[in-house]
Amino acid sequence: MDISILGATGSIGLQAINVAKSLGIRVKAIAGGTDFQKMIPLIISLKPDLAAMYNEQAALSLREFASNSPNFPKTKIVAGMDGLLDCAVTADLLLNAVVGSVGLKPTLAALTAKKEVALANKETLVAAGSLVMETARQNGVQIRPIDSEHSAIWQCLAGAEKESVDSLILTASGGAFRNKNKAEIALLKAKDALKHPNWDMGAKITIDCATMVNKGLEYIEAHWLFDMPYERIKIVIHPQSIVHSMVQFKDGATLAQLGNPDMEQPIQYALTYPDRLPRATKPLDFCEIGELNFTAPDFDRFPALDLVIKAAKTGGTMPAIVNKVNELLVAQFLRGKIGFYDISGYLAEAIAKHSVMPITSIENVIAAEEWATEWVKGLAI
Ligand code: MG
Repeated sequence: MDISILGATGSIGLQAINVAKSLGIRVKAIAGGTDFQKMIPLIISLKPDLAAMYNEQAALSLREFASNSPNFPKTKIVAGMDGLLDCAVTADLLLNAVVGSVGLKPTLAALTAKKEVALANKETLVAAGSLVMETARQNGVQIRPIDSEHSAIWQCLAGAEKESVDSLILTASGGAFRNKNKAEIALLKAKDALKHPNWDMGAKITIDCATMVNKGLEYIEAHWLFDMPYERIKIVIHPQSIVHSMVQFKDGATLAQLGNPDMEQPIQYALTYPDRLPRATKPLDFCEIGELNFTAPDFDRFPALDLVIKAAKTGGTMPAIVNKVNELLVAQFLRGKIGFYDISGYLAEAIAKHSVMPITSIENVIAAEEWATEWVKGLAI
């Protein structure tokens, strides 16, 4: 088996490259966004057939670098969405780890080409879950989740009849601000939110953890991946991030998947499924852990989570709106342009203003995202 990795220069992408190397899996194609400098060492070490830069200018810079470097690998350099789509269908398995809705078309392309798809790009399922799952079904492809919670549920569901499942329990660390009160949180800046207590991740998702929007997006992701009604998906705060998620069965049994916070385990499982191959890792030491705690989410301190849950249940274009508006607001928060609670404040306004439409094609998703982009542009930020 060979793989292609979209979002290769990001946190998940780099860890996926490590896992692929450790398993001896060939990385046939890689794609990055704008930072061509980060692609150079990856191309040199992996010698992929294809390398894509989503940003056309970055692709030109990369080509120029390659043509001026005599010993550079003979990798074909492609650009833009067409480049991502080429990468998406070139290997046996697509590992899609781009951030944001730009991942949607490559995922659909890989499914249509009947490639295996390992998905870390949760925004794809949030914005267009019905389309993605329908495309997967039509092509007989099972999407392999990489998000740690969904991988945990997937692992717990192995061998289970769908009818035997009562509910899914998503665990949440609570993010960087979980122990702060509302008045303190209101004053915190991006740099405070970027210190995630358990996981080392990219900036966007780390802010999403602090607002708990991430858990709302994962709630939608779980709904689509496991075809589970929202009423049967629960969220519980678990600050140690050891129980990665759980499945409750109708007979009263609950299965949990546990592990140290380490994305390479779910990545490896997605690549080796249904096999479990040995991996150099520190096993859990329960005596060292001592105790595991669970509490209910606090919607008063983290109102964005409540908003995303309600948007999920509204359905249609609403999750796509919430996803895109949040993505743009997080970028403004990272630039110091808006405060922490402005994210939930503006999200609530966008939800109130948007007229929901059904999603029957990719055009509906694109239109919803354009509406969201225009709406955020119109704000006095
Ligand atoms: Mg997660």
